[in-house]
Amino acid sequence: EVLLEINDLHAGIEGQKILNGVNLKVNAGEIHAIMGRNGSGKSTLSKVIAGHPLYSITSGEIIFKGQSLEKLDPEEIASMGIFLGFQYPVEIPGVSNSEFLRAATNSRRKYLGKEELDSFDFDEIVKESINLIQMKDSFLERNVNEGFSGGEKKRNEILQMSLLEPLISILDETDSGLDIDSLRIVSQAINALSKKDTATILITHYQRLLNEIEPTFVHIMDAGKIVKTGNKNLAIELEKGGYDLLKKKDI
Ligand code: ADP
Ligand code: MG
Ligand code: MG
Repeated sequence: EVLLEINDLHAGIEGQKILNGVNLKVNAGEIHAIMGRNGSGKSTLSKVIAGHPLYSITSGEIIFKGQSLEKLDPEEIASMGIFLGFQYPVEIPGVSNSEFLRAATNSRRKYLGKEELDSFDFDEIVKESINLIQMKDSFLERNVNEGFSGGEKKRNEILQMSLLEPLISILDETDSGLDIDSLRIVSQAINALSKKDTATILITHYQRLLNEIEPTFVHIMDAGKIVKTGNKNLAIELEKGGYDLLKKKDI
């Protein structure tokens, strides 16, 4: 089943073109890794999919489960089951992590026609998820991302992903800045959350993540489009030869 189909997508911000014809098809059950130099447009692609209000689509289309996402706002897109983990997770002063996660979970549940969770029910559900990322319960009572270490922010992202049960998760450099133990916990959680009817898009600079999470496809972005697609060997080649690989004729 095709979950996401991106056709010749051109998009940018404030009149500046960033994406120059992205094509990508993601089926249920697949894991897609997207690699590429800094500034090649990886984060822009994820933000455009998620409906970030500052970015605009100039041509092409993004189809999720047969429906165009172009006119939808980020909240609608999220509740439909597209999850975007942030490259730089923001702090939200004055809002506890558990209140924040419960609100996000309830908006997804509402879309799915499930009843809203009160704080008591939510506590029960969150316990399972929190075990998955091996965090302490006290983590829930702190303000969102305030004073969280880099690794805790990334684990919190995975906690949120686990609660929302998305169909597609886009994780933007979830592995950057993680120590070895956190990397393993985060990878195991991502693997545990990958199901036959879901898909994951992993944006990463490092092949090491792909030792833990087996990608179905590896794509390389350059200058706003996907210029090469392969399997996990492509990531290994890239690690060895760097992006000079793109200069080779056979791409
Ligand atoms: P990547 O995630 O691959 O490193 P980005 O999508 O963040 O790349 O950026 C792609 C290009 O778009 C870069 O040249 C960057 O400078 C530009 N860009 C990104 N965000 C903005 C913005 N808010 N305003 C102007 N240019 C931007
Ligand atoms: Mg980026
Ligand atoms: Mg939009």
